[in-house]
Amino acid sequence: MKIRFWGVRGSLPTPGPETARYGGNTTCLQVIRDDGPLIIIDSGTGIRQLGDSLMAGKGPPFDIKLLITHTHWDHIHGFPFFVPIYTPGSKVAVYGVGPLREGKGFEQVMRDQMTYSYFPVENTMLDNVVSYHDYNKMFPGGVEKSFELCPGVNVRLKLTNHPVYCTAYRIEAGGKSFVFSGDHEPWSPGPMDSETGETRQLYSMMNDRFIEFCRGADLVVIDTTYTQAEYESREKPHLSKRGWGHSYFEYNIQIAKAAGVKRMAFTHHDPTRTDDALDRLMNQTYLPMAKAAAPATEFFAAREGMVVEL
Ligand SMILES: [Zn+2]
Ligand SMILES: [Zn+2]
Repeated sequence: MKIRFWGVRGSLPTPGPETARYGGNTTCLQVIRDDGPLIIIDSGTGIRQLGDSLMAGKGPPFDIKLLITHTHWDHIHGFPFFVPIYTPGSKVAVYGVGPLREGKGFEQVMRDQMTYSYFPVENTMLDNVVSYHDYNKMFPGGVEKSFELCPGVNVRLKLTNHPVYCTAYRIEAGGKSFVFSGDHEPWSPGPMDSETGETRQLYSMMNDRFIEFCRGADLVVIDTTYTQAEYESREKPHLSKRGWGHSYFEYNIQIAKAAGVKRMAFTHHDPTRTDDALDRLMNQTYLPMAKAAAPATEFFAAREGMVVEL
């Protein structure tokens, strides 16, 4: 199994010379295997180039499994520009979970971005190619389940802490395991939670469950939007990123250590982070910190176009 990064930027595409090395496209990863359907995680803007490369390669018809972590724009808004969905005879099975509120299922939310007000091609054109698989319907008792995506590929789901329903994925195939966190903020007590209250234990348990989900993985690709200082912003609390649903380097390094992860890739880079700034953070602060804290894990910042063999 190999993982190819087609988009590593968080929240918003960031084209321009200052982000050209790590890349400005939003989240999209490809799970490359020797056989079976093509597996993709998330359809941020990176999926456009993936689609173009597929068209330039063997061409349609395609057999594609697209796993969506959640329906925030930066994880779905490349989908209408993914050319394989317009190729007759192809099968594109899209998996995901809809929001908890608003009474809309996953399919409806995905279709809504391709309606008259937003996009010129109407959904009906894709009905023979695209099928939607809503985890809420697949697993009515709760979505934290495992299933066989295709022969030889097992997928496990884990809800993360994010302002909309979001699933992390653990993909196991050929004796290797790969975790993608989706967007994920550490669970932590709020200002109203007492030092000894049960919520503190609950948050601790939730974080432990996330560690268990990552346990022993060959590669964990994890939302690392912020530094801890940016996340907490203690001196200017009104700039704190708490509750925005994203994680930070320091927490993720502890996850790698606690879970015995072999390799960890930081991704979902903050849209305001230039390449030079990210290099500085990695080289001066976080690689030395990670080496001291979790010497058994190899850490790197995900970059568009990078291929990692598991
Ligand atoms: Zn995101
Ligand atoms: Zn999000």
